[in-house]
Parts: sequence; C-alpha cells; structure tokens
Amino acid sequence: MSEQEFFVEPDLNFIKDVQRAGGGDLKKCFQCATCSVVCNVTPDDSPFPRKEMIWAQWGQKEKLMSDPDVWLCHQCNDCTANCPRGAKPGDVFAGIRSASIKAFAFPKFMGTLLSSPGMAIFAWAIPIVILLIMISLFPTIYSILPHNLDPHSFFGELVNEFKVAGWGNMPAGPIKWTNFYPELGIDMTFITLLTLGIISLAVGLYRFWNTMKENHGEMGLMGAPVPNLLAAVPTIFAHKKFMECDESKNRYYGHLGVFYGFVGAFVTTAFVASQFWLLGMKTPYGQISHVKFLGNLSAAAIIIGGLVLLVQRATYKKSVSSYFDWTLIVLVLGLGVTGLGTELVRLADLKSIAYPTYFIHLTFVAYLFLYLPFSKMAHLAYRSVAMTFARQAQRDLVSAEEIA
Ligand code: SF4
Ligand code: SF4
Repeated sequence: MSEQEFFVEPDLNFIKDVQRAGGGDLKKCFQCATCSVVCNVTPDDSPFPRKEMIWAQWGQKEKLMSDPDVWLCHQCNDCTANCPRGAKPGDVFAGIRSASIKAFAFPKFMGTLLSSPGMAIFAWAIPIVILLIMISLFPTIYSILPHNLDPHSFFGELVNEFKVAGWGNMPAGPIKWTNFYPELGIDMTFITLLTLGIISLAVGLYRFWNTMKENHGEMGLMGAPVPNLLAAVPTIFAHKKFMECDESKNRYYGHLGVFYGFVGAFVTTAFVASQFWLLGMKTPYGQISHVKFLGNLSAAAIIIGGLVLLVQRATYKKSVSSYFDWTLIVLVLGLGVTGLGTELVRLADLKSIAYPTYFIHLTFVAYLFLYLPFSKMAHLAYRSVAMTFARQAQRDLVSAEEIA
C-alpha cells in the first residue's frame, strides 16, 4: 500500500458547518458502535452511524456527501439516547445533511444565506422586498395590458384588478384578496418563484446523485432510477421508517401531519388553479364546498403537525435543535396559522388586519418557494433521491423490505 493511500485530508470548513448545524459533540465519539447496534433502520451490511462518526471526526467531506446512508437516517435519536459518550450521532447526521445541502446548493450564496443565523433577517427581507416591488409595479403592469377588453369578461376583470390593487387604493365593500394582489399578479409572482426554486433544487439533486455515483462507481447499480424511485414511494408516503423509532416516536405524527397537510394544500391549490383557468371559476368558494373542506383540513394538519414538532423539539433534551430545525417550525406554523388566519379575518370582515395578514401569508409562501432547495424542506427530496440510489445500489433493499 502506498503512502498516498494513508493520507487523509480533512475539510475543516465542512466539519465546522456540521458542528454549527447540530453536530457539536461529534468529537466525543470513541467508536464503540452501540449506535449502529441500536439503530432500527440501518442495513446490516456496513451499518450506520458509527462509520460516519469517524468520517466526520476526520473531516471526510467527500465520503459524507456521497453517502446515501446519511439520508436513510430519520433522526429518531435511538442512537443518541444510547451513546455512552454523549456524541449525539443523530444530531451529527442532521448536521451532515444540512452541511451537504449547503455544499450542493445552486447558486452557492443561497446555501450560505439560508444556513447562517446571522443572515436570517436578510433571508426574510428578500421575499418581503420581492412582494413590495411587485405591488409597486401593479400600475405599470396595468398600463401595458390591453384595455380594449369587455370589463365584465374573464380577462377584462383580470386586467382591471391591477387598477385597484395595492395598499392604498382598495375599494369599500367585502374583503376581496384580488383588491390587494391581483390573480394574475399572484400567478406571475409565485409561478416564477416556484420555478426558480425547482430549478435550483434539480441542480442540487443532480450534483448529489452524481457525487453518490462517482463514489459508488457504475458497477453494482441495478436497474434505472425511475423504477427504483417508484419502489421507494410507498415507504416515503407512509413514513414507514419513522415508525421504526423507539426514542422520539411522536415526531412521526408531527411529520405525518405536516407532510399530508402540504400534500392537501398542493392538491387544493392545483384544483383551484385548474378550475380558474379552465372553467373561469373564481374564489372564494362556499364554506361547505369540498375544496374549502380540503383546504381547511390541510391547514389544520399543518398547524397540528407543526405544534407536535414544536413541543417535541422544546421538550426533548437529549438532542439539540439547530437553526434549520427552528426555521422549519417557524415556516410550517407561519404558513398554517396565516393561511387559516386569512380565511377567518375575511369571514369576520376585519378589514384593518385582513390585508396585512394576507401579506404576511404571502411572505411565508414566497419564502417556502424561493428557499425550497436550501431549507429543511429540501430533505424530503434529498432523502427520496438517496433512497432511490440506495435501492439501485442494492443497499436499502433489506431494511425496506423488512419494513414493508
Ligand atoms: S457515536 Fe456514541 S455510540 Fe456511536 S460509536 Fe461513537 S461513542 Fe459509540
Ligand atoms: S437517529 Fe435513528 S435512524 Fe438515525 S442513525 Fe440514529 S438510530 Fe439510526
């Protein structure tokens, strides 16, 4: 064996990122392997998290970033609760995931922005400024749209919404969100933000996949990614791996509520948008409509799930909660509470707080869309890709089939 093969070059910056993101006790590990023994979701062959603990201590950035096992962990903290040294392997894994998302980020500065508590104020200011700029542009947008349309036609009404929208020009009468932010303005703003978020996320996932492939090599990869992704979908949707937890089982209910709340909100939004553009049906829907019911149920699931996660984070003292964890909880609860709040203030006809509440809700949605690839929300996508790769590499089959 050559001298070169023994040479280990630590990446100190990556390790500092891991420590800042929750893995502050990683140096305490003395490699006893208790964590790998108690972990219910690790494959038997080359189990985690013991091996990753030594890689983290040695600053092995490339190994950690290309390791799908880091994402097969669901942070149940069974290992943390049993670690004799208090090295908190569950938190170290959470830190590695956050540091990896930062390293894969496109564009790079967004990863830095979203991972730095000191920059939180700027991160929140950006969506607010984008919305304010859009609102200030409504008169300009109105001036360049065609004005020869029948004002009572579908498109005529959409154009005229830009004439009255904004902070200071809202007519008297019932609260109507398009009097503040026109329907077309909503689509222009949020489709653009979501598109940017999806492009960035796709680049990050592509980098992640290639990093795993380079480390693993082409040999040993079975089948194509899509069938393997489809095979992993039931495990992802049922949150089966969360159910394997012993230590912090209630996180399963929190994640389930938030996950299905967002699925419901997505289905509601997609349905309303398709009805609007295909059939010209405008909001608000009646209080007893099935769409309204699904929307309210989704908001309730998001709020309840968010509260479960909040209580779990606040009361579970064996593990540390990082900036990423708290940002996720603020975002989830902010979206749920302001989403439901906009409906309640409209029904109560509280004009003085209705539009500010709606604006705050739009800020949370803009934050979600724009920062999708850089926040903890991206974990679902990274974890799905890792599970797909693990299946393709014949890595996750044993544990997946045992659990199915
Ligand atoms: S993290 Fe803890 S349980 Fe795991 S090998 Fe290190 S000391 Fe042992
Ligand atoms: S946190 Fe849970 S899933 Fe992750 S390594 Fe520890 S025991 Fe395994």
